[in-house]
Amino acid sequence: MDIEILKELSNVPGPPGFEDKVRELIAKYVKDYVDELSVDNLGNLIAVKYGKEKDFKVMIAAHMDEVGLLIRFIDNNGFAKFMALGGIDPRILPGQRVLIATEKGYIRGIIGFKPPHITPAEERSKATSIKDLYIDFGARSLEEAYKMGVKEGCVAVFDRDFQKLSDKIVTGKAFDDRVGCFVLIEVLKQIKKITPTLYAVFTVQEEVGLRGAGVAAYAIDPDLAIALEGTVAADTPEVPSSDVITKVGKGPAIRLIDPTMIAQRKLFEFLVKVAEEEKIPYQVQISYAGGTDAGKIHLTKKGIPSTAISVPVRYIHTPCCLLNLEDVENTIKLLVKIVEKLKSPTQIKYTIS
Ligand SMILES: [Zn+2]
Repeated sequence: MDIEILKELSNVPGPPGFEDKVRELIAKYVKDYVDELSVDNLGNLIAVKYGKEKDFKVMIAAHMDEVGLLIRFIDNNGFAKFMALGGIDPRILPGQRVLIATEKGYIRGIIGFKPPHITPAEERSKATSIKDLYIDFGARSLEEAYKMGVKEGCVAVFDRDFQKLSDKIVTGKAFDDRVGCFVLIEVLKQIKKITPTLYAVFTVQEEVGLRGAGVAAYAIDPDLAIALEGTVAADTPEVPSSDVITKVGKGPAIRLIDPTMIAQRKLFEFLVKVAEEEKIPYQVQISYAGGTDAGKIHLTKKGIPSTAISVPVRYIHTPCCLLNLEDVENTIKLLVKIVEKLKSPTQIKYTIS
């Protein structure tokens, strides 16, 4: 696998509804490996790789968007108020550098806040709400902000470059879900002869409510679907072992349940069986919070057998996501084997005896 592509994917800005740059990048990397490539009305990128069976359709979805900010108001002194696009913990925002996308290119800014020296003690122990934070990007007036190209409606993302921390551990800003996009690109590159026709869907607006995936699933109407994710890893100090959803370095997480979906059991069992047969390390993910595109996909049309497979990522929805490249390799390997071992929709159909 080519880590440079993961690096590019992590660095490129693409908050919900503004995934254009991510889509361009992915299209560039997959176009030579697929039979069809198209964009739908919402902006989902759909790459199709033909298998032996045209009517046996497998959908694998990875979302292109990342959590971000949208400027909603700029005051007369050039400070920009913003709203969050997706779930962002306000505690991590003060002091962050952000990249604002404008028609004139990217503008750097920082998220400012009242200095601690003039903040009363009781206020200091609380998180500043997003409403009270602002982006300071160096403009001294509203007029100057406009001249720089920054206006209401501009979006911003964390300004943080991908970096290797050690041999296998890397950090970057948008592993949720650019690592899923990366895995899906690699799967398209690596699979050769397959029975089902593979619909690799790079979805939009997952972070604001799984919006792109449902539309794509409706149009494709697949026999089964797998959402590829960068998921919560909580194997960190001060998290009790009962709350450690997944662990970094322990292999892909095959999802059994989250609040948006209960995995179709036959599909879940099939995925586990493939991991066992191929001796690929895996973990079963049981989540009492969160959700994935599969939450929307499995309720589309007459119901689509679905679940999710994820790369464990620490500190998701922050600028300092962290993952283990071995997990990424194993997730690619598992997905390739899954698609290769799917021969008929009956493999994952419920039956009555
Ligand atoms: Zn995600």
